[in-house]
Amino acid sequence: MTKSTFDIAVFPGDGIGVEVTPITLELVKAACEKYDVECNFTNLEAGAAYYQEHGVALPEDSMATAKASDAILLACMGMPSIRYPDGREIAPQLELRETLDLYAGVRPVKTLKGLPLPLADKRGHELDFVLIRESTEGLFASRNRFEKEGDDVAKDTQVITRKGSERLFNFAFKMGQRRKQLGYSGAVTCVDKANVLGSFFFFRQIFDQVAQNYTDVEANHIYVDAAALQLVRQPWMFDVMVTENMFGDILSDLGAGLMGGMGMAPSADIGDDHAVFQPCHGSAPDIMGQGKANPSAMFLSAAMMLDWLGDKFDNQGAVKAAQDITKAVEAAYESGEILPFEFGGTSGTQAIYDTVFAKLKQLQ
Ligand code: ATP
Ligand code: MG
Repeated sequence: MTKSTFDIAVFPGDGIGVEVTPITLELVKAACEKYDVECNFTNLEAGAAYYQEHGVALPEDSMATAKASDAILLACMGMPSIRYPDGREIAPQLELRETLDLYAGVRPVKTLKGLPLPLADKRGHELDFVLIRESTEGLFASRNRFEKEGDDVAKDTQVITRKGSERLFNFAFKMGQRRKQLGYSGAVTCVDKANVLGSFFFFRQIFDQVAQNYTDVEANHIYVDAAALQLVRQPWMFDVMVTENMFGDILSDLGAGLMGGMGMAPSADIGDDHAVFQPCHGSAPDIMGQGKANPSAMFLSAAMMLDWLGDKFDNQGAVKAAQDITKAVEAAYESGEILPFEFGGTSGTQAIYDTVFAKLKQLQ
């Protein structure tokens, strides 16, 4: 189906979410105008502040609107100080992931010129790879079935299913194929611990089986401990990494670190019918209300959203609008005009937006 008007459900959420969301919508609008793409945004309520006031974290009508939309753009939700009675943090984003069956967590790791980075600038390499994290099972599936034996033993159980793994690996190999067309190696690396745990041996076997249907891209494996080493030593060796839920959670923060800061890392959680686009960072209560939040991760997440919409609904304009936002963010940093607080600079949310917006206008 071809489309040029998209219904976007927007969750500003908590903390710095409400600071980075409105400017992101402005940027998306400006980028889309040039290509006659229209986005109808609907702001939806959910999160810790909403829970505190109403006793529910994700109201049913917000969920229904999100479900009926073409894509969901979410800033961040949760506050360490506001919790459910059992002590868990408020996390409606996990509920969205579960309800909408968003099994592929896409975490691009791309370094930008003009930023002081922990590794890349010292070694003369730019980083540009993608980590794909399974998001519906693995060890985190145990979240709702934790077992405690008296006061002596606590157990969580890892669940790996053939169905869950096959759809994950198919997603990863398709990503490898798409990247190969764009000039990347497209090699897909399975990250596991198959040498110790049977569930990971099973995971790896399924990976090898699925790989046989994608003989045009290279497939290889690495143990998660070795992956941690190589992500610091020579992260440029990876192109598409694919892994289990908890390993992916940990390694994607490592990836955000490689980009220099949480405010630089975008993400997407994708299923067969729905997708949520969201920066990797949380609500950052330590800097909220100070105008210091880096909105770049949110801008780049919105770009991922337009790219996904363009691909799904056969709209090259949306793909180009996505590229323009990405290019504008890159140009803003490369120009040296801005350096966010999280990098030790003095550019706040508004200054970063203004610079990125100006670069977008120059592209147009
Ligand atoms: P969550 O559990 O929701 O992932 P978290 O506990 O991992 O949250 P974050 O809210 O992501 O924590 O914050 C981690 C650190 O990164 C904090 O010091 C925060 O100020 C900083 N940080 C997060 N996002 C940004 C941003 N967009 N700009 C600048 N600093 C940020
Ligand atoms: Mg976190």
